[in-house]
Amino acid sequence: MKGLKAMDLDRYIRNIPDFPKPGIQFKDITPLLKDKEAYRYAIDSLTALFRECRPDAIVGIEARGYIIGAPVAYILGCGFVPVRKQGKLPAKTISSTYELEYGYATLDIHVDAIQEGEKIVIIDDLLATGGTTAAVIELVEKLGGEIAGIGYIVELEFLRGRSKIPSYPVHSLIQF
Ligand code: AMP
Repeated sequence: MKGLKAMDLDRYIRNIPDFPKPGIQFKDITPLLKDKEAYRYAIDSLTALFRECRPDAIVGIEARGYIIGAPVAYILGCGFVPVRKQGKLPAKTISSTYELEYGYATLDIHVDAIQEGEKIVIIDDLLATGGTTAAVIELVEKLGGEIAGIGYIVELEFLRGRSKIPSYPVHSLIQF
């Protein structure tokens, strides 16, 4: 990454077999968050990837997407829009239901969170099957937002999540 000392982030991701259910290899990012250099490097790296898009807002996905997306928004000097699990946002919302690597979920966004034509970068901790991101893309585009990019710390390439979101610039810092 230009201007940043390269760092091997892979070793800060802990693999937890069979969590939250048998057969899932859970990629735990908490060791990365706990390490001041790794966390800073990850946030600075994502920020560098999206600086030139000049987004109006970062859309972060509850809950780990907030830990990554909010500092990126702060550094870029743009807004932050939370996408939350069903029933948590207090004002008027729209929803999207999707299939996870492990189960189903519904996500909500406030209807007034994005204005027509605003440039949006979506950030989450991890890309697995792409279902979560596809649901968030649907929400952002329903509100008239233009997706300038999508970023993750981790991408599970073998699940081919990018095939669900083919027409957008996607960046991940670590691939498994
Ligand atoms: P997906 O919709 O399949 O791309 O799943 C992405 C979302 O589920 C992200 O918000 C991740 O936090 C979470 N997730 C899915 N699979 C895993 C995994 N193997 N390890 C950690 N988080 C995961």
